[in-house]
Amino acid sequence: MLLAERTKILTPPSTSRMRELANELKGAGVDVINFAAGELDGDASDLIKEAAKRAIDNGFNKYTPTVGMKPLRKAIAERVSRRCGTQYDGDEIAVTAGAKQALYNAAMALFNPGDEVIIPRPYWVTFPAQVEIAGARPVFVDTRGTGYRLTAEGLERAVTAATKAVIINSPNNPTGVVYDRDTLLRIAEIALERRFWIIFDECYCELVRHGVSHSNVVQLLNRVKAQTILVNSFSKSHAITGWRIGYACGPRHVISAMENLQGHTTSNPCSISQHAALAAVQNDDGSFMKKVNAVLEDRLRMAMLIVDSMKEIGCAPAEGAFYLFLNVEKKIGKSYKGRRIDSVETLTELMLSEAKVAVVPGAAFGDPSGLRVSYAIGTQQVEEGLHRMKRLFDEII
Ligand code: PLP
Repeated sequence: MLLAERTKILTPPSTSRMRELANELKGAGVDVINFAAGELDGDASDLIKEAAKRAIDNGFNKYTPTVGMKPLRKAIAERVSRRCGTQYDGDEIAVTAGAKQALYNAAMALFNPGDEVIIPRPYWVTFPAQVEIAGARPVFVDTRGTGYRLTAEGLERAVTAATKAVIINSPNNPTGVVYDRDTLLRIAEIALERRFWIIFDECYCELVRHGVSHSNVVQLLNRVKAQTILVNSFSKSHAITGWRIGYACGPRHVISAMENLQGHTTSNPCSISQHAALAAVQNDDGSFMKKVNAVLEDRLRMAMLIVDSMKEIGCAPAEGAFYLFLNVEKKIGKSYKGRRIDSVETLTELMLSEAKVAVVPGAAFGDPSGLRVSYAIGTQQVEEGLHRMKRLFDEII
């Protein structure tokens, strides 16, 4: 019996594959350093854990409204309004099972077969997959020559009469790049002029390194709110990736279409996670993230000393999230102990088998010359793992 055609579009996210391979080896007793994770290494804050426990004890164990409890939607709206300097109401917010569902529902609500959706490359692997599931066509713009940022010129060149949206992710996974205000403002202006949507994924907005500041397009140009879907999540900012709670902010008619879809698919996101998120929005004084960022800052400083000493290896500007994106182009085509490295996948396999470090090959993000290294793992592990990588790279000649 045959499967549906759409299953052919779907392959397992290669980010998860490397994580699983590393965990298998670890399980077998091998000393693997796993740089492939996409989440903070520390535990969630006491504030959010206590709120979740209280929610269970207080009996909040039943269905909630589909796109979230009213107080949570209102609290998120108030927070986003403050950040953006323009009014969002509760019914312009949809609470979802993580940012991934917010992005998926937005894709299903906005894209038709034949639509083109512009995606800067390298990209987070789920963006093109969701566009394709919706029947639309991803149009990639290579950003490797422009500091791993989509420029106004690059965007303008890619826009056609079929353009329905652009997807911007800042701070960026996999590169760690944070878009600057001027570039975002120009992108917003082009979207207004040429009338297409901006899907703005700012899941890592609280994870920015010293001296860098994050902005979104609505903050910079309030008028673009009418054609923007802001996507955010508690996963990364509160170290609760497993709790599945995120949200989308957008025009009422889009949120309402997303609600209808969610009503027939997953219904409400976990009631316990919603109560925990409400406590986080209402009572979070920022101290948890402050500590997390301080640790990441120190780790990054140490990591960059090692990365900078790696010969023939480049690195994207590490400004946010918790990723280093290495450019290993100069190692492709060379050999390790007589074995030719014909692709970045071969290189990452070698890194796992020889150096016992797991990283994600850039091909997973549409970049055959890069690899992603997460520094949200223990400081000593980051140091030891990068030294192992450096030793291996030195032997590739
Ligand atoms: N967007 C980006 C850019 C991500 O990196 C991730 C997770 O890695 C997500 C969205 C999904 O986050 P969530 O756990 O909230 O679904």
